[in-house]
Amino acid sequence: MPFDDILDANRSYRAAHPDLPVADHRPARKLLVIACFDCRLTGMIEDALGIGRGDALLFRFSGNTLARESEILRSVAVAVYLLCVERILVVGHTDCGLVKVNTLKLLESMEAHGVRRDAFGEMPIRDWFGAFGSERENVERAVNAIRTAPFLPESLEVAGAMIDTNTGELRMV
Ligand SMILES: [Zn+2]
Repeated sequence: MPFDDILDANRSYRAAHPDLPVADHRPARKLLVIACFDCRLTGMIEDALGIGRGDALLFRFSGNTLARESEILRSVAVAVYLLCVERILVVGHTDCGLVKVNTLKLLESMEAHGVRRDAFGEMPIRDWFGAFGSERENVERAVNAIRTAPFLPESLEVAGAMIDTNTGELRMV
């Protein structure tokens, strides 16, 4: 089975954590962190930011790209109005794969997977994938999208940061 490794790990986890405490679904530190889904941040970012279970919400998706029209802003609104989030930190990272997107390779990969170019519509393919030129500017764009969303309150504390993928060092943007 393709997911046997995960089921095995889950059995071990359950055995090692028989009395896991139940946390409130609202984050104790009223914090939402938005970061890239880069696998090098997996198992690192929570510790590097000092976030434990129940402390914060964590959204992770490709490139932590958040445009003004993004559907993800709906989840931000849920975080604010239903889960009582008061501060949001957008965390970009060094060496992000979405900076290095090669359009030709992308098109070749789609073709190799048997998917036609027109399945992605009229949009330039790099834009469709959320590719960008600078990790830092991409973080600033996301922060700006949250700050200017008309349905989010001005009282929100919103900031951007960059994390070093190799060392875990965090710097505010
Ligand atoms: Zn990334």
